[in-house]
Amino acid sequence: MAIPSIADAHCDTLMLLVGERPKGSSLKDRLPGHLDLDRLLAAGVGLQFFALFTEPSHGSEQNLRRILEMIAQFHRSVAVSEGRLYPVLTAADVAPQEGRVGGLLAVEGMSSIGGSVEILEVMHRLGVRSAMLTWNERNSLADGALDQQSGGGLSHEGKRIVAAMQRLHMALDVSHLGERGFWDLLDSSEGPVLASHSNVRALRDHARNLTDEQIKALAARGGVIGMNFYTQFLVDTETATLGNLLQHIRHIADLVGAQHVGLGSDFDGISAAPERLQSVEDYPNLRAALEAAGFSASERAGILGGNLRRVLQTILE
Ligand SMILES: [Zn+2]
Repeated sequence: MAIPSIADAHCDTLMLLVGERPKGSSLKDRLPGHLDLDRLLAAGVGLQFFALFTEPSHGSEQNLRRILEMIAQFHRSVAVSEGRLYPVLTAADVAPQEGRVGGLLAVEGMSSIGGSVEILEVMHRLGVRSAMLTWNERNSLADGALDQQSGGGLSHEGKRIVAAMQRLHMALDVSHLGERGFWDLLDSSEGPVLASHSNVRALRDHARNLTDEQIKALAARGGVIGMNFYTQFLVDTETATLGNLLQHIRHIADLVGAQHVGLGSDFDGISAAPERLQSVEDYPNLRAALEAAGFSASERAGILGGNLRRVLQTILE
């Protein structure tokens, strides 16, 4: 069996395992969405971030509960996987392992944690290794990408959480953060920063995408940008092609180098993906498209997984 070299910085699959679900299902089962354990392994994915997403309007107590349920579902999946799924907790867990997928838990929006360093520490003990301060909303930590009217950056609480995350060696993820908060976060932190699932603003003018200045700043910090497959973040028309995704990848590669490009599929969190990239089963098409676009073997290996692993190894060290 080949070494599963692909790494993906974002999926929402754990949402399928809480709430309205077939009783007892886990990542080991054939799931209705874009991925599950068998399909990840067949596609050659060896590192998969699993987002802990909650809808901010549901309130922080209910959301904290929901996050705990998703974490429990992840660890249950690990327990029944016969060693094929393991939690990524340290730098040593980042390298690809034959026949195994490393799952990394990532909080998507910390409204429910707020400024509580104690709850953050508990999350860390439960295996969480990456987090975004906001989803799209404004919360007590920062303004999100779709709620920037106040022009606010990071609050005092937000900066305290960033400092605690650095102390705990957790990845700081700027996807979903408003622009002012993005710059505040860079000013208040050290080392590589992640944009787990964001694309290029110069190609698709959307608040969720990054400006060239932001991309340059992330590269200067040694970071990586995971390319989101959501058609709405790729093009301003109804459907997108693999070629459209390649344009975003090429733009970043030309601007700062291919070593800052990664994948952040957003699988199971998006309603439309590019043609011929409809689930993890289509990763061979992406592999071929990168080759056809003229990326070298080492650039392709970096984009498909090596770049994200390099950044994670530094952060988790
Ligand atoms: Zn998201």
